[in-house]
Amino acid sequence: MSCAIADSQLNVAARCHSFALYGICRHLDGRESAAAVAESALLSRAIPSPNSNGGGHLRRTGDEISVGQELDIRPTRQFCCQTLAQFFGIRIDRRGDDSAFLGLRVDIQRYRSSLAFSGRNAGPCYRLCREIPSRPALCIWGVAMMLSGWGRYPRANCRVVAPRDEAELRMALLSEPSVIVRGNGRSYGDPALNPKATFSLRHMDRFKSFDPMSGLLETECGVFLQDIIETFLPRGWFIPVTPGTKFVTLGGMIAADVHGKNHHGAGSFGDHVESLELMLADGRVLRCSNSENRELFDATRGGMGLTGIICSAVVRMLKVESAYIRQGTVRTRDLVETMEAFEQSRGWTYTVAWIDSLATGRKLGRCILYRGEHARKCELPANKRGEPLAVARRRVKTIPFEFPRFALNRVTVSLFNALYYSTATPGSAIVDYDTYFYPLDAIADWNRIYGPTGFLQYQCVLPAAASRSGLTEIMTRVARSGTASFLSVLKLLGPGRDMLSFPMEGYTLALDFPAKSASFMLLTELDSIVEAHGGRIYLAKDARMGATLLRQSYGGLDAFKSVRRSVDPSGKFTSLQSERLGL
Ligand SMILES: Cc1cc2nc3c(=O)[nH]c(=O)nc-3n(C[C@H](O)[C@H](O)[C@H](O)COP(=O)(O)OP(=O)(O)OC[C@H]3O[C@@H](n4cnc5c(N)ncnc54)[C@H](O)[C@@H]3O)c2cc1C
Repeated sequence: MSCAIADSQLNVAARCHSFALYGICRHLDGRESAAAVAESALLSRAIPSPNSNGGGHLRRTGDEISVGQELDIRPTRQFCCQTLAQFFGIRIDRRGDDSAFLGLRVDIQRYRSSLAFSGRNAGPCYRLCREIPSRPALCIWGVAMMLSGWGRYPRANCRVVAPRDEAELRMALLSEPSVIVRGNGRSYGDPALNPKATFSLRHMDRFKSFDPMSGLLETECGVFLQDIIETFLPRGWFIPVTPGTKFVTLGGMIAADVHGKNHHGAGSFGDHVESLELMLADGRVLRCSNSENRELFDATRGGMGLTGIICSAVVRMLKVESAYIRQGTVRTRDLVETMEAFEQSRGWTYTVAWIDSLATGRKLGRCILYRGEHARKCELPANKRGEPLAVARRRVKTIPFEFPRFALNRVTVSLFNALYYSTATPGSAIVDYDTYFYPLDAIADWNRIYGPTGFLQYQCVLPAAASRSGLTEIMTRVARSGTASFLSVLKLLGPGRDMLSFPMEGYTLALDFPAKSASFMLLTELDSIVEAHGGRIYLAKDARMGATLLRQSYGGLDAFKSVRRSVDPSGKFTSLQSERLGL
């Protein structure tokens, strides 16, 4: 990357990855971009290295310390790990296993909270210092690990390979007959599991460039959404479409073509991807966009990692004035009122409803609807206007133990639902982005509340015309079953795209059930309702759907398969899900 750096001290966004530091560079003309920076004079002194170029001030992206050098750090870990970590924001995972592979970031969160800035140093420029956590520095190659999706069902012993750059990725890919890529394992079921080889892209997490004029951000695909937000929100940029958790990778967001609370107006995440670099089964990298390799571009956005490996992508960010959301809360008494409230809220950027899944009779479908707009600076309370883009860091809680299987039952869930419904306060409020978009992220490992056997998330979408009758049938069936859904969320979707992308114009309902035989039987019944109403199931949440339902509900399936065959004739990219569904 060629750039003249005006401020090489990089008080912003310093990142350590494989012992090269990355940061946002301020160019002489005021533009900003990300670059790899060897702010490592100190680092080089602390970690003598035969390959080091001795504390130079700028290195090219990818010009990292070599593998041999990485090994050098291991003895030093014993005596200077803490000091180094505190000084540079480095964190080395010292556990035998790597809990982060199961989607947990709790240790990092704990560590980071000790670095939180407060008081005088809480301004935007300070907030970027050291805030991006490093990934574990140890390269994992071919280690067998028990993996699962976020639902912890199913689990599989997978051989994990964690390449750190494109060259390593290609080398690994060419030597494996069967592979699937894993982002952060926040899909619920089995799309990111392949026992033969599961490639973790978490090391490929460098920002490549950012153009503040157009808002175009180019990053590698292992970058976490959390890192994107925490780096760019203090600068007035937000992600255009976000799922309900920020612990996902950019690659995972594209591969699942995730939708947010603004799908009715903004479409899905793939609609905001300008282009992507895709590594095919034969190791070639193709650039895909609306003007280049268009079909492959369409198949990859929502293609669940089956067309190739997304190495990097260019995303158009959204300009915002504050880190806050103007939230409107509405309480409805039944499904008719709920759907009316959604329709009347179409003018709002964001809408999402929590549904009381155990309400029956006249209360069936009652909800709390949350509408939202990015708050303008002038809408903030006086004490927040000084720093509209700064938000105090939320303390993340953990679940200390796995709940027993019986903890979530009809009685506890209906008590919770009654309390939640009656205590919600209708009206208007200003809330921070974390509270509005990511309430579940406040508890790091909330998936443990379903006990050791895990849980299933059932997310379907029904076409607009069939939504009311379909939702009534589904909710009646769920309320009558002995099984309680703890989390039930309803969203309005706009028109979707083709191939394997999930959204279609209508309503999408997501329900959580413990993974037990009664739930499997219930969900098979729900499948028939969804199929009869012309709906479909979301692949990113699926762990059990049958191939027949997929064939009948995804009209673009044949087109997807034909693109896939043209780029991967031997079917190298395979997951447990794709095998189950005959994809
Ligand atoms: C609490 C919670 C809330 C959620 N809310 C929403 C929501 O509101 N809307 C929504 O749409 N989804 C939602 N999801 C689902 C989640 O956004 C998706 O499953 C997302 O794909 C997970 O990203 P990941 O990085 O963890 O990917 P993984 O789960 O690791 O992988 C998902 C798929 O992407 C593929 N993949 C990952 N990286 C790449 C890559 N670089 N190249 C090619 N393929 C790749 C994998 O092979 C796999 O098929 C939610 C999940 C959770 C846990």
